[in-house]
Parts: sequence; C-alpha cells; structure tokens
Amino acid sequence: MKLRTEVLIIGGGATGTGISRDLALRGIPSVLIEKGDFSTGASGRNHGLFHSGGRYAVSDPEAARECMAENKILRKIAPHCIEETDGLFISLPEEGFDYRERFLRSCEKVGIQNTLLSRDDALELEPELNPSLLSAVKVPDGSIDPFALVLGNAQDAEGHGAKTLLHTEITSLIINGDKVTGARARDLTQGEEYSIEASYIINATGAWANQILKLAGLRIGMTLSKGSMLITNRRLTHRVINRCRPPFDGDIVVPNHTVSILGTTSIRLEEIENFGVTPHEVSLLIQETSKMIPAIQETRFIRAYAGIRPLFQSEEKGEDRAISRGFVLMDHGKNDGIKNLITITGGKLVTYRLMAEKTSDLVCQKMGVNVSCSTHLKPLPGANRPTGLTEQLKQFSINREETLCDCELVQRKEVDELLKTDKLKDLQDILHRTRLAKGTCQGGFCIHRLFGILHDLRMIEGDSNEALKQFLEERWKGIRPILWGAALKEEELIESIYKGIFNLIPTPPSPLEEEGEGGGSRH
Ligand SMILES: Cc1cc2nc3c(=O)[nH]c(=O)nc-3n(C[C@H](O)[C@H](O)[C@H](O)COP(=O)(O)OP(=O)(O)OC[C@H]3O[C@@H](n4cnc5c(N)ncnc54)[C@H](O)[C@@H]3O)c2cc1C
Repeated sequence: MKLRTEVLIIGGGATGTGISRDLALRGIPSVLIEKGDFSTGASGRNHGLFHSGGRYAVSDPEAARECMAENKILRKIAPHCIEETDGLFISLPEEGFDYRERFLRSCEKVGIQNTLLSRDDALELEPELNPSLLSAVKVPDGSIDPFALVLGNAQDAEGHGAKTLLHTEITSLIINGDKVTGARARDLTQGEEYSIEASYIINATGAWANQILKLAGLRIGMTLSKGSMLITNRRLTHRVINRCRPPFDGDIVVPNHTVSILGTTSIRLEEIENFGVTPHEVSLLIQETSKMIPAIQETRFIRAYAGIRPLFQSEEKGEDRAISRGFVLMDHGKNDGIKNLITITGGKLVTYRLMAEKTSDLVCQKMGVNVSCSTHLKPLPGANRPTGLTEQLKQFSINREETLCDCELVQRKEVDELLKTDKLKDLQDILHRTRLAKGTCQGGFCIHRLFGILHDLRMIEGDSNEALKQFLEERWKGIRPILWGAALKEEELIESIYKGIFNLIPTPPSPLEEEGEGGGSRH
C-alpha cells in the first residue's frame, strides 16, 4: 500500500492532534500516524493541571505567560474538558515568607491574577490543609481532562478532512538529497508495512523526538526526565494545592473528578521504554504532599503511574527542574539542511494549541500559503456539553440504563455505540474513550462485564481469558507500588474473584522475576 499526503504528522498526543486540527481548519491535508492510541505518551500521563502559569512565574516567566494566555483561550474553546477549581499556593512555616513575596511579585509581572489569603481564610476554603500553614495565594489554576481534549482535537480534525492511522509506527524516513520525501510505517495490529509520501514531515513525538530524528541521522539536545504520580481513592480538596516554594518533589495535589493526583518527581532517564514508579518515589510523594494535606498519610491509593518529560537543553548534567518548560520548534531546513522536516517538542498540555499554531504557521510559510490560524476562536466538538460532576450525575440518573462501570458511571449503550464504529483495534481504545476501568476499582469489579460483551460479539481473537489476564497484568503494574492496608485487602478480594470465579491460572514468573528483580506477575 502507498499513501500520499501534503503533511505527515508523527505522534498522536495533544501536540500532534492539535496540529492535525489546525492544518485541517486551514484546508491543508494531513495524515497523522500514532504507534499506540491517542494520548499514549505524556498526554495521557500527566497531572492534568490546567496551569495558570503560577508554577513557572518565578523560574520561567516566558513559560508562565504562555500558560496564562492559553488558559484564557482553552476556557473558551474547550470548557467541557476543564474544571475551573482555582489553585492555592500555600506557605508552610519551614518556608517562611521570602519565596511568597517573590511569587507575588512575579505573578504581577507576568499578569497572573492572584489573591493573598490569610491562614484562616485558606482553611475555610480547604479544611484538609495543614492547620499550621502561614498563608495562601489564590490563582486561576484548574484541572483538565487530557483524554477528552486530545479526542476532541482528533475528532474535529477528521471532521475537516484530516486522516489518522492509530497503532501504526513510523519505522524509517525516506530521504532524497536535502528532503524527506516520505516514511515507512508498520500497522502494529496487522503487521502490514507501507510507505507514505509527503511534502512536509512534522515530528510531534515528544520524548521520542530523537528516535525519529535518528532515522534521518539527526538529533537535538534533549534530556528525558521521569515524573511519577499517585492517585488517591477520593478527592481530597476542591482546589489545586501547590507548595509556595521553589519547584521540588511532591509539591502539588490536583483534584480530578472524584480523585486527587499527587505529583511529582524528576528523575533523569536514558531510555524511554519500560519505566516504572519506584517504592522510593511513592514514599517521597506521600511524605512531601502530606506536609500540605496531613490526611494523605491515611489515604488509600488506587494507582501509581509515570510520564516522561522531554526537556530541551545542551546535555550537560544539571538540575532538570531548572530547564525551561517552554517548547521548541525546530526547522531542520535551517538547522540541518533537511528542508521539509520540522520538530516540535517540550511545552505543556496547556500550551498544545499554541505549539500547534506556531508549527502550522511554519508549514504555511514553507508552502507559501497565507491562511491564518482559527483554533483560538472555534470551540472543540462537545464544548456545549454540560460540565461539572453534579450536572453529569443528573444526566446519568435521567438516562440511566444498564451500567457497566459503577465508579465512572459508564453505561452499556455508550460502549455499544463505540463498538459499532470500525476504529477500535485494542481493548485500551475502549477504556480511553469511555473511562471504563479508570475509576477507584481500576477495573477490578467491571472489566469482566466488558469482556463478556466482547466475547459474545466474538470481538476478541483467541481465548478471552488470555486477553483478560493480559489486562490484569497491565493493571497490576500500576497497583503494585501502592499495595498496603485497605488497598491490599481489596486486591486480595479481586484476586480471589478472578482466580476463583473465572479460573484464571497465574502466568509462571520469568527467571528475572524469580530472582526478585522484575515487576512481578500476579494473575
Ligand atoms: C510527569 C508529567 C506531568 C505533567 N503534568 C502536566 C500538567 O499537569 N499540565 C500540563 O499542562 N502539562 C503537563 N505535562 C506536560 C504534558 O503532558 C506534555 O507537554 C504534553 O502531553 C506533550 O504532548 P505531545 O503530544 O507533545 O507528546 P506525547 O503526548 O508524548 O505524544 C507523542 C506521541 O508520539 C508517539 N510516537 C512516538 N514514536 C512514534 C513512532 N515512531 N511512530 C508513531 N508514533 C510515535 C507516542 O506514542 C506518543 O503518543 C506533564 C508531563 C509529565 C511527563
């Protein structure tokens, strides 16, 4: 098979789908290739903080300004993906007031709305805060649903003629003199290989940027930094809680629907694949965040996960938190003599639209096309949907039918509708799109219902129990680091359900796991 397009976009995270939408709205044809599902990379592995810019106000004013400006735009074009919670930067006695003063001055300079609250006012807003706090500064932070944001961009792009190929990996670039004329791709579900010709190639692969550039004999100075996060089984605060001090491990708690996300760490990595959360990171996150919210010490956790930040810099050793969180747009025509290759990496989820705009502007400039960006004006599909938990609960009780997932209130009809489309290639595709198995039981009490449906429809190739085992092994990776107390008891119950009722026989451990070095196999 041979495909031809004007612009080939590699990477289906927020940046890639944002570019796909931007180009489609300008009438420029594109094909987006993603090796997993949408949001497989950092776009599905972050805190979901809807930045006001406060976290960068002191250390990186340019990144803070970008966040602030995009915060205002996204509230208009994607209100259904955002919960407007506000955020508090709290000062604890060990920090004193020095950093708070710098923080307030920097917010003023950058243009971030801020209100200084007394200890008592802060405690009245958020009773779970450490009562010994000195004060708090309120800023317009919020929380954002990255999966809905990315899917919304992809859906709108496709509605305007863009094409997307998921579970398809770019394996090589076809280079002819000073141009990349196309790429070779492999469909990871069917094994089929084909080539795609394109006039322009955009590398939007985030932390994988150098893997793609290597295919053209190029590289950029980029550091990889792992950040780990923990999810609690209940929502601890209404607002985002930040520690008012220079950036450090365990200084943020972001509410997200019915749970809270604790973050994060910063650990330099050489490799991208197979990164996990270590016991040390779990202890560090609990120790540091519980200084802001003491109840965290007693809280039950439902999952640990990690994402990789691509940080652009010369590769000297240094403090990764000091590297700019702004983005890098690289025209390889100017830098390396490959005229039609562009890399866009770094930045934040919140600045994805701006990154897409600048990249699309560069493509238009190279094409000699004069069409302006309109993504800051046109709402995403679903923008008029009711938002907020209360509203969603109301809708659920009005339209209530057979429920598959009780934690996330996923109804059978939603899954049935999705199964009618021909886009699903993997179980995770269903979970990403419905949030089934994403709630507090992490699929323990609901995934067998989905498997029952898929089995009846003969949509699972081979033995359904083998596929169920694979799901449980994947789930185990996120649960293993947080197993103690009540979470351990629940896991024992879930294990007895799957082994007892479904008769799942455990997979024998690999030699590495037997030596006690691996992630461990459970089911
Ligand atoms: C720990 C952590 C916490 C964060 N917290 C926040 C936050 O709270 N708020 C915020 O605004 N931002 C946050 N960020 C930043 C944000 O997640 C990223 O800036 C954003 O998601 C980057 O999107 P992207 O599309 O550029 O990259 P990605 O989402 O990583 O997408 C790159 C895609 O390229 C694909 N790919 C790679 N190689 C190939 C190939 N050969 N062929 C095909 N596809 C390929 C990958 O599968 C991946 O899906 C955080 C990041 C991390 C790591």
